[in-house]
Amino acid sequence: MLHWGYDEHNGPARWKEVFPVANGDRQSPIDIKTEETKYDPALPPISPNYDPTSAKVILNNGHSTSVEFDDTENKSVLRGGPLTGSYRLRQIHFHWGASDDIGSEHAVDGKKYAAELHVVHWNSDKYSTFVEAARQRDGLAVMAVFLKIGECNSQLKKITDRLDTIRAKGKQALFTNFDPSCLLPHSLDYWTYLGSLTVPPLLESVIWIILREPISVSSEQLAKFRSLLCTAEGEAACCMLRNYRPPQPLKGREVRRN
Ligand SMILES: [Zn+2]
Repeated sequence: MLHWGYDEHNGPARWKEVFPVANGDRQSPIDIKTEETKYDPALPPISPNYDPTSAKVILNNGHSTSVEFDDTENKSVLRGGPLTGSYRLRQIHFHWGASDDIGSEHAVDGKKYAAELHVVHWNSDKYSTFVEAARQRDGLAVMAVFLKIGECNSQLKKITDRLDTIRAKGKQALFTNFDPSCLLPHSLDYWTYLGSLTVPPLLESVIWIILREPISVSSEQLAKFRSLLCTAEGEAACCMLRNYRPPQPLKGREVRRN
């Protein structure tokens, strides 16, 4: 496996050959069995506080599309919920599938949504960089939002309208004045558990906060994600049809809800 990806020869089933932690005790995503989650009255609401001026660029990294934020100071942070202190916003990105009935990474009672948004933050109270935090057990906090097929999402349009300009791997474009909380659902009720990055190196450093209410995306909007290329300009074009890892074993972990 030269470069990891989502095809048969380099996809999730083979990542363990290069990243043995793929078989670790706190891997993500998981299937959330709602009846087995534990209501925790001590869990406070989560509180995102984002500054739109911290948005910098939108890019195609060959595996997904992301919006990157200036994380040199605590301009945009997530607090509350299961978190101790402030977690600084680093980037947001998406996972999707080859058809509208599959594409999310987490599942709820075995059901998959069409896509999943990840809002990635790092513990800036305890650590000095994202890279340092990504190696610590309490280093990262990722808020996940499910996307469900429905009406065209006018907030998401800010992103889907720009995908044409970053079609090839390695492309990026300026993306400023954007507050990712415009993509959050009305209710911020969540499930939370301890897990990992869902892409190599699969580091077990993520406090997951999974919002229970999905947001909408139209089938046409989702098709724009699939038209992104996992290849650079000049290479034989290959579309990013799917980029999700399937659910991993729970291994005794508890999933709590607020
Ligand atoms: Zn992700």
